Amino acid sequence: MEERLKSIRFIAITIGGFVAALSIFFATAQYRRRRKNHHKCSPKSCYLQADQTKPQHAFKRVLADNSYSPFKHLKLDASRHDNASNSHPYQAEIFELVENPRLEFSFIDGIVDSEISEEYTWVETVSQLKELLDVLIKERVFAVDTEQHSLRSFLGFTALIQISTRKEDYLVDTIALHDSMGVLRPVFAEPSICKVFHGADNDVLWLQRDFHIYVVNLFDTAKACDLLSKPQKSLAYLLETYCGVTTNKLLQREDWRQRPLSKEMVQYARIDAHYLLYIANCLITELKQQGTEISCPDDKFDFVLEASRRSNMTCLQLYAKEVEAFPGESAASSLTSRHLNGQGAVSSVYFKTEFQDLVMRLCAWRDIMARVHDESLRYVLSDQAIVALADRPPMTLAEICRTITQADLNVDLSFNSLLPSPSSVVCSHLDDVHTLLQDNISNLNDIFPMILQKCLGSSGSCPLSILNYALLVNCNLKVSLVSKQNMVKSSKQVARKTSRELFVQKFSCKTPVYHNCKIFANDGRLLCYCDRRKLEWYLHRELAKLVDDNPPAIMLLFEPKGRPEDEDNDFYIQSKKNICVCCGEGNHYLRYRIIPSCYRIHFPEHLKSHRSHDIVLLCVDCHEVAHSAAEKYKKQIAAEFGIPLFVSKVVDSKEVQVISGSSESATNDEEVGVPPLQLRTAAMALLRHGPRMPSKRREELMQIVMRYYGGREITGADLEAALLVGMSPHERRRLKKKKGISFKHSAGSILPNMQNNVGCTETSSIVDASEVGILNSSDSTKAEACNGQQEFRKADDDVGDSTIGADSGVDEVNYTFKDSLKSDTHGASNRKGDCIGNSDDNYESRGPSNGTVELNHKKYDGTAQSKHNSKLSLLGHGPHGKQVVNHLLKEYGEDGVRQFCQRWRQVFVEALQPRFLPAGWDVMHRI
Ligand code: AMP
Ligand code: MN
Ligand code: ZN
Repeated sequence: MEERLKSIRFIAITIGGFVAALSIFFATAQYRRRRKNHHKCSPKSCYLQADQTKPQHAFKRVLADNSYSPFKHLKLDASRHDNASNSHPYQAEIFELVENPRLEFSFIDGIVDSEISEEYTWVETVSQLKELLDVLIKERVFAVDTEQHSLRSFLGFTALIQISTRKEDYLVDTIALHDSMGVLRPVFAEPSICKVFHGADNDVLWLQRDFHIYVVNLFDTAKACDLLSKPQKSLAYLLETYCGVTTNKLLQREDWRQRPLSKEMVQYARIDAHYLLYIANCLITELKQQGTEISCPDDKFDFVLEASRRSNMTCLQLYAKEVEAFPGESAASSLTSRHLNGQGAVSSVYFKTEFQDLVMRLCAWRDIMARVHDESLRYVLSDQAIVALADRPPMTLAEICRTITQADLNVDLSFNSLLPSPSSVVCSHLDDVHTLLQDNISNLNDIFPMILQKCLGSSGSCPLSILNYALLVNCNLKVSLVSKQNMVKSSKQVARKTSRELFVQKFSCKTPVYHNCKIFANDGRLLCYCDRRKLEWYLHRELAKLVDDNPPAIMLLFEPKGRPEDEDNDFYIQSKKNICVCCGEGNHYLRYRIIPSCYRIHFPEHLKSHRSHDIVLLCVDCHEVAHSAAEKYKKQIAAEFGIPLFVSKVVDSKEVQVISGSSESATNDEEVGVPPLQLRTAAMALLRHGPRMPSKRREELMQIVMRYYGGREITGADLEAALLVGMSPHERRRLKKKKGISFKHSAGSILPNMQNNVGCTETSSIVDASEVGILNSSDSTKAEACNGQQEFRKADDDVGDSTIGADSGVDEVNYTFKDSLKSDTHGASNRKGDCIGNSDDNYESRGPSNGTVELNHKKYDGTAQSKHNSKLSLLGHGPHGKQVVNHLLKEYGEDGVRQFCQRWRQVFVEALQPRFLPAGWDVMHRI
């Protein structure tokens, strides 16, 4: 190490003179600054948390994200795309042009103005963009150029598009309009309109990458230069030769994200497109001349057509992300070979293989970090810094910083001094670099999922964005592996973990919730995403035709009532990821209802549609958080409206009447009242399993029921009466009718004496505990009736992302992971009771409702009846929900209900700070 420092000093001194002194000064200054920053950084904070300046974070539609998954090209409707999955959408049109170039170059015969005026049009709103579309669609030809930004972005993005017609220059702010640029897709794809570019190879790809814009009918002035064997084919040369205009090409390296653009940049940008029509005109004239001069009469070589043909060949290119076997692999091998071939032979104390290995690690880390933070490789860590780190691996964090700074200063003072060195990425994640440089790490394949998890995982250090979230989803990370290592294994934790796993296994959705099937309008515009059932509904009625198989897509054969864009709401045209909207967990998730069903079921019917907006996927852990926030907020609502959550009854056992607590008790409802669901469940458990329960548990349940009855002794009749508490008269009638429940209780069947061990006496088998009254003891076999364990609807049964369709049934299952823990401490026989007792109407289970597997092997066959009756399931708070909704409607009308929904969304957002809500999801969403 000492030697290393010496060599740095040596290098610095031998360069000598002013530059060396300057570089040391800079090195120290920057180093100090960085150190300071570093001290401020806790491992939890990444520089991006504070940096809100990157404009791409506002992009909603990102076609090329930073994941390793391949780029998906535009798909037109099915009649067009031939099986080839990712082919060029306008391949046919372009082939047609290549074979039979359209002789429409007469456009340039008129006068093309080579002067540049003072005026130009800055396009930054959607309506301005649409106006531009209206202008362009009437043109025969227009000129195009684009400016890119690539330093603070992994793949780069188009920051500006310059479009010039014969009359006017347009500068399109493609940052402000990023999500709307598709508006111009038709003119770019229109074969009868010629687009003039200079050197379009990259522009053509960039337009595909950012906007799915495909150029059809291109005239590339650089291709014309080729054919004319011009001494140079740069635009600067053409500008000088034909227009007498000089342009400062250094401006192309400016930061084109800045707004407003400087005067010079505006001028530069305009010049790049403005003269192209004039230049094209000149070149075409020359091409025509060349044709007549060179071609012999029988072999008429048409130079104009050839230029057009070559230009259009360019358009056939398809944008693709670079593919590597391992992240950073190609950079690593070129760095290693360059270095080992002697160019950078500083010292080779280390073995070649060690050097190679370190370069590989650093390149891989750089690649991943650049993707996570959406930065260019160069911004994250320079090549020379990688070589320096790998050549003499520093041991401490401070040394790492110093090595990087020094390497950057030594190489290119003028350019690199503009960039922070070490970069903010390195500073925020210095520990990673340190870990990577230790030579005792096992396997790279293990390290990187861990690093990625650390950055983007559920409690990751770095912000998730549309640009990087697919990284996490596709990486198939072994989350458990990471968390396992940090786990101190007390027996309690083991128990918790086991039941969590059990919970996940049982209750999370077993198949993806969102099928993301597409529905197109008859003009090919995407209307919405939906599930398979809905597609089939339309197909079955011949209202639509199938236009794609995988994933399925249909096109409606009729004009739909509205378009998503009419409503200015792009929520419904987003495909939805099967991940937790909060943390991105993709391995397990459940549906979560943002607006608790105890309220929602009482909404007027038309306010219930559009429910896909308010049902999101959450992983088990985030579900837990959301749930408790919702419970807390319910209490707040209870207090605010003076409508208590819980009910209590006073003393008289003969009345099956619910007396809601008074408003004063609302603040203190937990002590005073009993949640109806808890009450019903306790009663059910006692009726069914009372005699077999451990006495402690029986006592607990008895207390619950007794609390409801004001603390007095209770009878079997009281228990049966309690089964109906909180139900509406309608629900009660239905329950009685369907189940043939007799509420006349056989006298004297006091709890401890109940001998219904199998739970099959007439009185106690009336209802299945998991959902009141699914089974009818009279027409089921006794065993089934008693052991009936309902099978809830499978996860993908429900229309997860339906948009047009009506609300499907409220299927509530009431269970939480925490509750499953509680029940673990009681006997197996009581689990069912616990399951419901601690119910919650936000939870939705997707499987057998609880852990009674040991007792009940038979599963209730989920028939239509069970689904139907699930509407009648135990919704937490009895009259509270209904009273609140009635109050809202009475006092504030439907707007009151809408605002109420907005409040719940706010509660949800505040509690979870979800990072993966679909684009277009909005707290203010109007129904
Ligand atoms: P141009 O049309 O020549 O202005 O270039 C279009 C875009 O390409 C610019 O906005 C730059 O992002 C990028 N570009 C072209 N040449 C260079 C270069 N030599 N160095 C950096 N960026 C370049
Ligand atoms: Mn340009
Ligand atoms: Zn970070």
